[in-house]
Amino acid sequence: MTPPILIIGAGLGGICLAHALRKNNIPYKLFEADPKSNFRTQGYRLRITKDGVTALHESLTPELFTLFEKTCAETAKMGIRVKPDGTPAPSKPGLGPPPQTMSGSVYTIDRSTFREALLASLEVEGNVFFEKSLDYYTIDADKVTGFFTDGSSEEGALLVGADGVRSRVRKQYIPEYQGIDSDMRIIFGKTPLTPGFLAKLPESHQQGMSLVTDPDDSFQPTFLFESIHFPHADEVPFPLPSAYMYWCLLARTSTLPVSDEKSWHVTPREAADLSRYLTRGWNPALRSIFEMQDESQAAVRSILSALPEIEPWTPCSRVTVLGDAIHIMPPTGAMGANTALRDAGDLARRIVEAGGAGGLDEKIIGDYEAGVREFAKVAIGFSWRGGMNSFGLRAAEECERILL
Ligand SMILES: Cc1cc2nc3c(=O)[nH]c(=O)nc-3n(C[C@H](O)[C@H](O)[C@H](O)COP(=O)(O)OP(=O)(O)OC[C@H]3O[C@@H](n4cnc5c(N)ncnc54)[C@H](O)[C@@H]3O)c2cc1C
Repeated sequence: MTPPILIIGAGLGGICLAHALRKNNIPYKLFEADPKSNFRTQGYRLRITKDGVTALHESLTPELFTLFEKTCAETAKMGIRVKPDGTPAPSKPGLGPPPQTMSGSVYTIDRSTFREALLASLEVEGNVFFEKSLDYYTIDADKVTGFFTDGSSEEGALLVGADGVRSRVRKQYIPEYQGIDSDMRIIFGKTPLTPGFLAKLPESHQQGMSLVTDPDDSFQPTFLFESIHFPHADEVPFPLPSAYMYWCLLARTSTLPVSDEKSWHVTPREAADLSRYLTRGWNPALRSIFEMQDESQAAVRSILSALPEIEPWTPCSRVTVLGDAIHIMPPTGAMGANTALRDAGDLARRIVEAGGAGGLDEKIIGDYEAGVREFAKVAIGFSWRGGMNSFGLRAAEECERILL
């Protein structure tokens, strides 16, 4: 029997690939470093558009796609655009789901809910392994072996690095991989839509995806917020989150009261404090979003990016990568998850066409990786344009190059 495909990382891309392989009876094992699917604060809302939806359609069984749809939140229209003092801000195009992806359905998901819903059926079949952090891999003629930090190892026909921005797989597969630090940090969180909170918030702030921006002060953080409701919660066999306000603040590193090194390791409580500090002079209605937040849900991330022109590398028939592992991009285009899902769907299609992992060769993997670079180039460019237009990002060429 052909050994399984080893998927490293049970994020959105890894889960999508696992489902596509499962649907096509191709053996796989999915390894996740975290102890469980909802470990860490990672429940921000994501917009899934055309390419992501197509990949999910192809990868999930019809029953699971219906389940996915029922776990989605309502997709908000554009909301208000105000300055930090609450007065109207001039309108600018460029905010909202990417226009080129608006032709099909747009889904709004909670990342934690998506992972829990779609991991359950894989876990039942015993193919998901938590607390398995890949350390390195070795390649022999006909197999790849993944070595984990707990001392265990697994043999497979192909190892797929779906392990996010700090990917161990990419670091070994493509050493010295360069990216960009935008010098911006994103603080995101959730505020439960309780009666007490809604009483403090004008009606106009409760609908749509809204933006707070100060066109006269580029050192003010930019702030996006949106109410999230789950209209089909009663139709799903497990509890969905209660309605909440999703929000994210984008701030320049120099405006943070903590060192950049420290901001990588802040606790949720410290991230919540940071959000209140950055918005201390803001209008009271806006400040209530931070004051009444769920402090266990706040987190900080650096806004990093792959280079828009990703340099080609020599393909290998036993290892490849997908998603943020190879093309992290600013979240300002809502394209990262869509691109990870697209990669997963495309890779699965090529594996199926090859008759399983045993039929793969350098040409097939090389063609897949060329497609990854081509699609990522457009998505990265789009994300930077969105970031520069509405969130104060500087041009990519002006930002520092770093080793990812
Ligand atoms: C606030 C915010 C909002 C966003 N909004 C959007 C949006 O609206 N639309 C959109 O398309 N994108 C959005 N994005 C981007 C999107 O979240 C990412 O691009 C997407 O999650 C990438 O998926 P992935 O599967 O490649 O990686 P991830 O989802 O990061 O998953 C990687 C997984 O690998 C695991 N892992 C890491 N190292 C190892 C290891 N050594 N061994 C085993 N497992 C490992 C991690 O624990 C993780 O579970 C947003 C991002 C942020 C931060």
